[in-house]
Amino acid sequence: MKALVLERVGELALRDIDLPTRMGPDDVRIRLHTVGICGSDVHYYTHGRIGDFVVNAPMVLGHEASGTVIGVGANVRHLAVGDRVCMEPGIPDPTSRATKLGIYNVDPAVTFWATPPVHGVLVPETVHPAAFTYRLPDTVSFAEGAMVEPFAVGMQAAKRARIEPGDTAVVIGAGTIGIMVALAALAGGCARVLISDLSATKLAIAAGYKGITGINIREMSLPEVVARETEGWGTDIVFECSGAAPAMKDLFRILRPGGTVVFVGLPPDPVALDISGATARECRMETVFRYANVYDRALALIGAGKVDLKPLISATFPFEDSIAAFERAAEARPEDVKLQILVNPASEAE
Ligand code: NAD
Ligand code: ZN
Repeated sequence: MKALVLERVGELALRDIDLPTRMGPDDVRIRLHTVGICGSDVHYYTHGRIGDFVVNAPMVLGHEASGTVIGVGANVRHLAVGDRVCMEPGIPDPTSRATKLGIYNVDPAVTFWATPPVHGVLVPETVHPAAFTYRLPDTVSFAEGAMVEPFAVGMQAAKRARIEPGDTAVVIGAGTIGIMVALAALAGGCARVLISDLSATKLAIAAGYKGITGINIREMSLPEVVARETEGWGTDIVFECSGAAPAMKDLFRILRPGGTVVFVGLPPDPVALDISGATARECRMETVFRYANVYDRALALIGAGKVDLKPLISATFPFEDSIAAFERAAEARPEDVKLQILVNPASEAE
């Protein structure tokens, strides 16, 4: 079948590739509709590796996906042919210790689409475990369905933060993930979110949402703004979503005593942290690795109209133009939050 294949660093091809198509009794067969381009897809394209994951052989890209069920295995009860769905890209070992603990996202045996050597889903159809396939509410489009994956990272961050109603949160970094985290924090009960970045364009997009205030750190000091906005007390929660080493400097200075820092961004190298500043506040620190058990809740929020991800879809490309879509993504235009690829527009009527 035709797929978007990363041949090696910097070289993409839209070409035929042999992929396994056997469907087991607990699987569903899905015709892909929309696939979003993630920062990780772009990084594999431009750098060929993320940490220990190295592209050593041609790999199909794409893991933020929605589509239509076109076949169901004998044991599948909750899905039927014709259902519009989105899929969790990570498949854990169901019998692993991590899965039994409910933390299947950190199962060392998890396989994750478009993470070498596992192929992604910029393909016309795929086979996936029904247990990790979720029906879209009628009010949720395929495009929004393909946004659930990055939003799920925000949901996980909100969950890890243990938000209390009325909390104030600071989100550092207004990239795609920072905006997802800010929206999940608001949906999870935060009264307001202050979001920082150095890009005025990114901040303007984030601040388009009610409840989110942008702070341009080129123009003002984040600790000063937070002190002013919280009468010197500090914010209840800091979500670090930039992965930028300089951002780590102020993490605890802006936090209230007993507050929580949630690390979402992934600095490429080890960074220094002000442990004394953290202990002086006896703060709680949490980390986020992808997500577990949040897809259904994410869909419930989007379906209920409490979270609107549509304004974050910056452009949609036809499957034939997938390479152009990746070139645009690699440009990293500040106005682009999410670029998506329409794999099979034929199923739009469903
Ligand atoms: P992105 O590059 O789109 O966003 C990062 C943003 O941070 C940019 O807008 C940048 O201008 C801003 N930034 C840089 N330095 C800053 C500073 N000092 N203060 C405030 N903002 C600053 O990337 P993204 O796709 O949004 O991902 C963000 C981070 O989250 C990355 O490190 C990524 O690897 C990580 N990530 C983690 C998980 C996870 O499961 N933990 C999942 C997805 C992505
Ligand atoms: Zn992603």
